[in-house]
Amino acid sequence: MNKALSAIIAGGGLGGLATAAALAQRGWDVTVYERQPALRAAGSGIYIWENGLRVLEALGACEDAVRDAFHGRCFEQRDNLGGIIESAPIAAGKRLITVKRSQLLDALRDASLRAGVKVVTSAEIIGATPRGELRFANGDIARADLAVGVDGIWSRVREALGLEMYHQQTEEGALRTVIDSRPGDIPEADAGKYIENWNGTRRLLITPINAQQIYLALTCTESDRAARDTNIDKALWSAAFPQWRHLIERIGNEVSWGVYSIIKCSAWSAGRTVILGDAAHAQPPNLGQGGGMAMQNGLALGVALEGVQHAEQIPAALEAWEARERPLVDHCQKWSTLYGEVAFLPDAVRTATIRGAMGNAWVSEQIFRAANHVPSGTIGFVPQGAACKVGDEVHV
Ligand SMILES: Cc1cc2nc3c(=O)[nH]c(=O)nc-3n(C[C@H](O)[C@H](O)[C@H](O)COP(=O)(O)OP(=O)(O)OC[C@H]3O[C@@H](n4cnc5c(N)ncnc54)[C@H](O)[C@@H]3O)c2cc1C
Repeated sequence: MNKALSAIIAGGGLGGLATAAALAQRGWDVTVYERQPALRAAGSGIYIWENGLRVLEALGACEDAVRDAFHGRCFEQRDNLGGIIESAPIAAGKRLITVKRSQLLDALRDASLRAGVKVVTSAEIIGATPRGELRFANGDIARADLAVGVDGIWSRVREALGLEMYHQQTEEGALRTVIDSRPGDIPEADAGKYIENWNGTRRLLITPINAQQIYLALTCTESDRAARDTNIDKALWSAAFPQWRHLIERIGNEVSWGVYSIIKCSAWSAGRTVILGDAAHAQPPNLGQGGGMAMQNGLALGVALEGVQHAEQIPAALEAWEARERPLVDHCQKWSTLYGEVAFLPDAVRTATIRGAMGNAWVSEQIFRAANHVPSGTIGFVPQGAACKVGDEVHV
């Protein structure tokens, strides 16, 4: 690239900052516009699988993102009586960590700033055009060679470009919070585990995120009004999961509730304006991959635009990027949605279903395909059509 091409990005979340860093590290002049008064993540935790960690490494954000993070050794599902349904070890060489969201966002912010990204806060985008333009709530318009909408599930950029095919909100949602951990919280035999406990349509997911804190996700249906109250009904949740009463009783006031979104678009770009992350392909969180996909596609966008010299070349590069990235995202979206269906099965049927499915090599391959993927722009990635040598890692 001779003269620096410019990019304007709507949204300073995980996807926006990963995209910003990836472009700026490749010589682009990048500005991020964020609606909030500061770059801020909701306070709970997040799972980052091998694919996401590879992206963070490529962006130079991994060390900061995973400092003090929890490295789980296995993921376990339990039934309504506390019995183990399945206990799947985290495969050797396929990392999974959990960390506070704010730490991950800060790491991406710092990598972006180091690469020269400018961040403008309190800047609300209300529209966009295919000509690389973003329109602000105050009437201003920003123009660049490339505009990127990474403005989350209610994306104004997606709406303005008319790309949405459907936006479905699920029946299930999650209450999320973080509690301080205390000695003895997790029995010794369960140390190093992520534990997903089921009882009817209610689920309690216990996720340490560092040595001091545990992220709790309490999921239920939107119609389960007593259970989904952010003023947690501790007696109700403790009755469903009595062995974890000591954790439930310590839940404080900082609890968020939300159902999940599933978003499908006819295309991820129009002209020189592109959408990615939840704006383009939100998925239920059951595989813990929404953020991973957002970061992965942001880095891949930077890579896909590497050969671009002039703004006129951008639309074709965006189409090629989508063609390469979309199959895996669609796959992940499908399987995370499918996993969500177990919430609606009777307990005994759920136990049998999870046991049968997780013990099956084919199902396991589907579920972990994204985690096992070597993302574009990371070490080990083999471009499609490239000649492979013995020992190269190849993804499907
Ligand atoms: C319960 C739950 C658990 C999850 N757990 C995981 C997990 O463990 N692992 C994982 O990888 N993913 C997980 N996800 C998914 C993950 O949170 C999202 O996929 C990820 O945050 C998407 O990143 P994004 O940057 O596309 O969007 P967002 O994180 O939503 O960021 C969008 C940004 O744009 C800003 N914005 C919005 N509108 C405007 C506007 N009009 N103008 C300017 N700025 C705007 C917002 O303020 C925000 O900063 C989970 C999701 C849920 C709901």
